[in-house]
Amino acid sequence: MKAVVSHGIENFQIEERDPPEIGVSDVLLEVAYCGICGTDIHQYYGSWELNPGSIPGHEVSGTVIDVGSHVHHLKVGVRVALDPCVVCLNCEYCHDGSYHLCPNRFGIFHYKGGGFAEYMAVPERQLYRIPDGMPLAWGALLEPASCCVHGLDRATVKPGETVVVLGGGAIGLLIMQCAILSGALSVLLVEPRTSRRTLAQTLGVTTSIDPADVDAVEAVLSETGGGADVVFECAGLPKTVAQCFEMAKPGGRIVLFGVNKPETRVEISPYRVFRNELTILGSVMGPKAYPRTLKLMASGKLHIEPLISHILPMDRFHDALKMHEAQEAIKILIRPGK
Ligand SMILES: [Zn+2]
Ligand SMILES: [Zn+2]
Repeated sequence: MKAVVSHGIENFQIEERDPPEIGVSDVLLEVAYCGICGTDIHQYYGSWELNPGSIPGHEVSGTVIDVGSHVHHLKVGVRVALDPCVVCLNCEYCHDGSYHLCPNRFGIFHYKGGGFAEYMAVPERQLYRIPDGMPLAWGALLEPASCCVHGLDRATVKPGETVVVLGGGAIGLLIMQCAILSGALSVLLVEPRTSRRTLAQTLGVTTSIDPADVDAVEAVLSETGGGADVVFECAGLPKTVAQCFEMAKPGGRIVLFGVNKPETRVEISPYRVFRNELTILGSVMGPKAYPRTLKLMASGKLHIEPLISHILPMDRFHDALKMHEAQEAIKILIRPGK
């Protein structure tokens, strides 16, 4: 099969590999779509772990073409979407239901290979059946969308609240939609790219702010009359992280969602956090969010189609990475098969 294989930092190659062998609890998946994600870029540059020899890719949908002898719920021909976070189910965190904090967790790319390949072997429990009528391509966004639903769970956005989203990529546009679905009275998006602000308008954003045009903090304070109840940082930049602390109103919550480099440090005012009783929340992965997210996607209430800006063949994988990095796309899906 054709697959993208990591040979170290800035060295991913498309090559011929044997299809993975399935264990008794595994399913063999014919990959239909695998989304390009910020994590793939981090892995390409070495700021997120990927063992040499591994196949990257974790935002996957596909069709079951073989099952191990202990697979009981999925059958050949079923369409599925992937939860790429494999956990031990035995530790304190797993027993507590906080699977995403399992110290033994690992990405599916470190199991038997990720989704930038024609075939993938996946433990049955990592897969969700895609409802009839929901396009297979949308399934590739189940993972990022579930992470966003978890972000809303973390923030406990209440009806009538005001939400600010910093960064209007696929994640920011999903968070924005989830905030609207949670009953936010107004949702403001701060995003420098015109095309993304325009897309946000069609998806129901209340106000979009161009930070190249105005001072983003001043604009948010003025639009909200003194700050937002919840600020989601979805750009993963030190500057936007710092801005969150200026944009949250007294008593507000800040959700750090964007991925910064591990060594990044940001200067904040502890006095401001103290005086305004700000709450700082991290949000990682999508524990307990997959079934709800799948229903939201299939219902059409969470708009997925407008976020898929490109579908490219595997040969264009490197172009896709460049386009993602240059922010020329919203969500690019790679089609590994014919
Ligand atoms: Zn991802
Ligand atoms: Zn565990």
